[in-house]
Amino acid sequence: MVKCSYCIKEIERGTGLIYVKKNGAIRHYCSDRCYKFNELYGKKASKKEIAANSPAGTLA
Ligand SMILES: [Zn+2]
Repeated sequence: MVKCSYCIKEIERGTGLIYVKKNGAIRHYCSDRCYKFNELYGKKASKKEIAANSPAGTLA
């Protein structure tokens, strides 16, 4: 199971987005929103947002 590179929510197989950067790094996103925020705006997910999606409540 892969996790969203932005909000670390687990992404179900067959859903979400895979973005390959020019340097070969692969990013997985659960949604278009997360892709835009991370790649286009360079925003960091808030701790609150990450904690809400983290199963154990831990920060990755
Ligand atoms: Zn996400």
